[in-house]
Amino acid sequence: MGRVLIVGRPNVGKSTLFNRLVGRRKNIVSPIPGVTRDIVEAQVQWKDRKFIVADTGGIMEKGDELTREVRDKVLKAIRKADVILFVVDGREGITASDQNIAKILYPYRDKVFLVVNKIDNKSLEKNLYEFYSLGFERVFGISAEHGRGVGDLLDAVLPFL
Ligand code: GDP
Ligand code: MG
Repeated sequence: MGRVLIVGRPNVGKSTLFNRLVGRRKNIVSPIPGVTRDIVEAQVQWKDRKFIVADTGGIMEKGDELTREVRDKVLKAIRKADVILFVVDGREGITASDQNIAKILYPYRDKVFLVVNKIDNKSLEKNLYEFYSLGFERVFGISAEHGRGVGDLLDAVLPFL
């Protein structure tokens, strides 16, 4: 089954996106074992296609001071993924942590979707432009909270799975 991995610094809306994709009724299928820091996974269905979505939120909570162990775990998940949703905050703009994560993801850019979250309305769409400087070809503005743009994102993701 295809695998979608959600990465990004804290507070950009990874969990909100995960919950929107998974929905309340879906069961978490296989949390990767760990004491407190886990990558949480669940099965999602979109237009008759089933795939796995994984949120690295718990494991990346320290933002830019990633330990080697966490980094290895994330790298392993990155390699395993068919699609990486790199989530950033469209209201705050690019931060140093975003740039660090962008560097880690750059070798995997062919499967990266840069997801600019918190684009809650049309007037915020102009905020998208600066994010192209992170060097990723596929840039999507969404509102994980309101669902805006999430369908278009999933439509674009499906052919990669
Ligand atoms: P995470 O740390 O990346 O998992 O981020 P969370 O999903 O916990 O969200 C962090 C904060 O951003 C919370 O206060 C959310 O309510 C807020 N948030 C998430 N998505 C959106 C969005 O689409 N628009 C707005 N305005 N806020 C959002
Ligand atoms: Mg989270």
